[in-house]
Amino acid sequence: MRPLLRRIFSLLTALVCLTSMPGVGSAVTPSDRSTIPWYADSVQWAVSRGLIDADAAARLTPDRLCTRAEAVDLLWRCSGAPAPASLLEFRDLRPEDPCREAVSWAVENGLAAGFARGYFCPDVSWKRADVLYMLWRWADSPEADAACPFTDIRRECYYYDAVCWGLQAGVTAGVSAERFSPNRACTLAELLCFLHAASTLGDTRRLVVIDPGHQLHADGEKEPLGPGSNQTKAKTSAGTYGAASGLHEYQLNLTISLALRDELELRGYRVILTRDNHAVTLSNIDRARIANEAQADVMLRIHANGSTNPAIHGAKAVNMTRSSPYNPELYADSRALSEAVLSGFCAATGAKQLPIWDTDTMTGINWSTVPVTILEMGYMSNAAEDLQMADPAYQKKMVQGIADGLDAYFDNH
Ligand SMILES: [Zn+2]
Repeated sequence: MRPLLRRIFSLLTALVCLTSMPGVGSAVTPSDRSTIPWYADSVQWAVSRGLIDADAAARLTPDRLCTRAEAVDLLWRCSGAPAPASLLEFRDLRPEDPCREAVSWAVENGLAAGFARGYFCPDVSWKRADVLYMLWRWADSPEADAACPFTDIRRECYYYDAVCWGLQAGVTAGVSAERFSPNRACTLAELLCFLHAASTLGDTRRLVVIDPGHQLHADGEKEPLGPGSNQTKAKTSAGTYGAASGLHEYQLNLTISLALRDELELRGYRVILTRDNHAVTLSNIDRARIANEAQADVMLRIHANGSTNPAIHGAKAVNMTRSSPYNPELYADSRALSEAVLSGFCAATGAKQLPIWDTDTMTGINWSTVPVTILEMGYMSNAAEDLQMADPAYQKKMVQGIADGLDAYFDNH
């Protein structure tokens, strides 16, 4: 932040520190609250991101004000809780205060400022304009494209550009078409809505969740086969192993998934892995939930096959049936995903293309709320295919082929 701007910001925020105590003013913002409950989606998002817990979400009332410490802490955790360069000292923050790291990070990055004589005022509320200003700085201070239509925001205000940007980017709708109410204390519900909108801005990349099948230790405990099902299945089976390579399937699956993540990121995708090491305890429902909560565009489950017949070889893909009792609405997209990924994989590797299997016997598919496929990359029980899949040169082709398949899927979705 430019020094003059920083001083002005600090001065004005200091004024808020003295005047905007919790309980002063009711932050009623009809336009930001156009649905009932107007903040439900953002609260659900915050819970799914682990920003607030479910109990706090259930207790949240629309007029509960947000403190400066809470606002900074939420933004900090939304940013992945980065370590500050140093822990800053404030007269009203104890060394053991849980928000101290977040406050230090925010001040270092010009997102918040302390006050005269070394105070931070962690327990007082922030006005709406300052919250927008913090988010605008967080978004790298983008320029607004047009003048701000709000009549209660003056051009010379330090937060003019921030509010303008917030309106144009859809972070805020104001309290009406003409007014933003910059000086009203920001509620926690409003902050969560602002933060939710700001955090998903500008990231139009496709989100692929890759689930490397299995893990170091199988888990025989049972879980329901699908939502509402009386049938149960083991939480995580052991997977197969290489007849000739001696590799465990969980190892091969992770090797391919990590390389696939790198390739997809190079191609402009956003990628989440359900696991990036072997020592996890994830059930198949857990794996589906990761993709569901992230609202992935697709979930790709990476597996290899095994058979008692060592002659069988080839790749196949698996998705739900058209009449799935759990998620039939995902059939068309999931089937298209299966076809694209399997075709891409077989074209790149030369593997035999086996028919796609429509089935409702896979827990991780049944619990999915996003298009999903399992790619069975080949048979580890077939010595030749097993050795091929363990070969780094062939693995490169496998990864390229899967990525080509995803590109082809997204060309039409
Ligand atoms: Zn498997």
